[in-house]
Amino acid sequence: MATDEYHRRTVITRLAVAESDSNLLERTIDHWLEGCNIASEMAWGVADTAIDVQQLTYDRIRDETALGSQHSVLATHHVARAIRSGLERRRTGYRATRPEFTSRSMTFDARTMTVFPEREEVSLTTCGDHPRVRADLVLPDDDDGYQYEYLGNDDWEPTESTLHYRDGDWYLHLGVRKPVDVDPDSENGTVLGVDLGVSEIAVTSTARFFSAGELNHVRREFERIRSNIQSSGSRSAYRTLEDVSGREEEFVKHVLHEVANGIVEEALEYDCDGIVFEELNGIRERLPNADWHSEWAFDTLRSYVVYKAKAEGLFVDTTSPANTSRRCPECGSTDSANRVSRDKFDCQSCGCTGHADYIASKNVAAAYLRRGQQSSRRRGVGQYALKSGTVTPNTGFSPYGGEPADESTDKSTS
Ligand SMILES: [Zn+2]
Repeated sequence: MATDEYHRRTVITRLAVAESDSNLLERTIDHWLEGCNIASEMAWGVADTAIDVQQLTYDRIRDETALGSQHSVLATHHVARAIRSGLERRRTGYRATRPEFTSRSMTFDARTMTVFPEREEVSLTTCGDHPRVRADLVLPDDDDGYQYEYLGNDDWEPTESTLHYRDGDWYLHLGVRKPVDVDPDSENGTVLGVDLGVSEIAVTSTARFFSAGELNHVRREFERIRSNIQSSGSRSAYRTLEDVSGREEEFVKHVLHEVANGIVEEALEYDCDGIVFEELNGIRERLPNADWHSEWAFDTLRSYVVYKAKAEGLFVDTTSPANTSRRCPECGSTDSANRVSRDKFDCQSCGCTGHADYIASKNVAAAYLRRGQQSSRRRGVGQYALKSGTVTPNTGFSPYGGEPADESTDKSTS
């Protein structure tokens, strides 16, 4: 799920490049493609996030190519994206093969590229110890070119861009971005934290539980039906199997729609501005037993929530999960002993107890706000919603309507 905190545009311009510089840029692209193919060979089937691919392949790209450090990093991220889109294709039923990089193009960013709008010029980092190459932007003669709207406009900053070499000409697809406006004075915005899991599909920080009981039960039924069909070995078994799988998928999607509706309703009921999940990678690590189907289900659920939230004017964002199942939201103690069983949280330091997934939903929201993530500041949110009040990570709990209440009285409403 991509949460875009920026407006993004692409400004396309031809570059006028001197011949010696053109040769140098071509060599740089050779090294880029070599670096990408090294990373793809090492990471395919092993890693698919930018961080993982970078950790796995960066050193070898530096050893075996003349790419500088930043271009090596950009190459690993480029490959991670290609691998993920391959996996996405596979998930929708296509065959996915290891990405190969042959097209004469490469990525630049603000650290490897400087744009001089007044001189209508760009400088680009090249490979090895060679200096940067400077090239003129070949812009339209009349001032009406859309490019002028973004170049030299301080609201738009250059970001990841692609250099292309095509039929002897150089083109820059210059990426520019501008932060999405929010009221910078407001920090009173509220988020709803959501924890996803296997026994509870979702639990909100307002203590609404969406049980996976029926879903798991029905999926076991479908599993049983499938194995009966397979053992019958009849000729029509294959088609019947497909029908069963189709019906199962329809059922799962139906349940996920209901859960997504419930989460968005909950956010609206508690006057939230947005909904925060943990990143999917975290779910994979935290639930090693979750099969691909659960992963697909979480992804699908979040895409439904994004869709429905947008229609209600709510944002959806993610936070990287650390210790969401071990940290005490009351005293901050982080201890694996706090998680006394799959469902039960019992803080060994302060005695705070609760359903483990409910505790985790608070931790997801708190982590998002506490880390002062750019996105939370820009969105003007500083607190998360409970059933009985709101919590600001630094100053703590405030009950709705001013009446002091014991937060731990929040109970399941499922
Ligand atoms: Zn505690």
